[in-house]
Amino acid sequence: FNGIIPPMPWFGMDIGGTLSKLVFFEPKDAISEKTEDETQLMSNVTKYLTKNSAYGKSGHRDAHQQMDNVKICNRIGTLHFIRFPTSEMNNFLELAKRKGMAASVSTVCATGGGAFKFEENFKNELNLKLCKCDELDSLIRGLLFTVASNNNECYFWSQCTEDEQCSTQEYTFQYNKYPFIVVNIGSGVSVLAVYGPNNYKRISGTSIGGGTFLGLCSLLTGCNTFEEAIELAANGDNTKVDKLVRDIYGGSYSRFGLPGELVASSFGHMNSKEKRAQVSREDLARATLVTITNNIASIARMCALNERIDRVCFVGNFLRVNPISMKLLSHAMDYWSNGSQKAIFLNHEGYFGAIGCLLSFDE
Ligand code: ADP
Repeated sequence: FNGIIPPMPWFGMDIGGTLSKLVFFEPKDAISEKTEDETQLMSNVTKYLTKNSAYGKSGHRDAHQQMDNVKICNRIGTLHFIRFPTSEMNNFLELAKRKGMAASVSTVCATGGGAFKFEENFKNELNLKLCKCDELDSLIRGLLFTVASNNNECYFWSQCTEDEQCSTQEYTFQYNKYPFIVVNIGSGVSVLAVYGPNNYKRISGTSIGGGTFLGLCSLLTGCNTFEEAIELAANGDNTKVDKLVRDIYGGSYSRFGLPGELVASSFGHMNSKEKRAQVSREDLARATLVTITNNIASIARMCALNERIDRVCFVGNFLRVNPISMKLLSHAMDYWSNGSQKAIFLNHEGYFGAIGCLLSFDE
């Protein structure tokens, strides 16, 4: 932007492989140099976006994540958070056109693969030019800004061995201390090592991520939504599906410190016809969730060990409404590192790319 701040309204959009995330800044200060036009256009857009919590059939505003009193480019205001499935992009464009949004918006900062894939659609259907940003730059910028703006952004799960006692606690993240690791679990997974505000590298990744969980779970259980998949998993038992160390040893494999309850072979029981006849959709959903999560935990742990970094932040929408995975990640990091590595979670889990993108003109 070369130091030029675009006119309001300010948007940041992260168009991912599964979900599109939209962040909108609503100014709350009384800055006098607002023009009549700006005020009118803003009030139309603001009214529509902030008075509703559902847009069309599949758009949602996450009101619980709204951030008040944030300062961007010397303006004070509220950040609003909206998401919809990327598969609904055509309906989104149509709605935006119908509500006259395009007429009132000059620039939209966009990131994620969809900023490239849908660039022409924005141009042709809304006459909107997307200002494209890199998704990992945006992720880190958004994360650092959010942690610096919100004292209570970060938390961890304590005592995750005893399920009933396992609970969240606020974590004071010293965001100005480096390095730390970010594991972004979206449709796929990226692992980044962050050494400074403008210094990070992508150290690893895996295609076995949140999209894999939802895809496999849909195949195995016939579920239709992520929420349904998580609900099924919450009521299932993965030990009916997975082969444990104790199923093989009769107990633990103590010489190498492997407890009997540890999964030795994910889905290892499913080669048996009898075992297959005994499993429920819930058990299959739970086993899918545990398999994907433990695999991510393994990769995260090895990355942290390799880089000699002990703080690991887990973000991305796979962790939305998903305490089972957060507890598993926390336990795995703690247990296998003898307490030296720490799993940290953030309240705005899936929105950092969109936030960082909105901030791109504030550099
Ligand atoms: P991406 O940018 O690749 O779309 P996200 O961080 O938005 O990644 O995470 C997408 C993942 O989040 C999905 O693969 C799924 O596991 C999970 N998820 C959480 N909520 C939903 C939802 N409402 N619809 C679909 N997937 C969801």
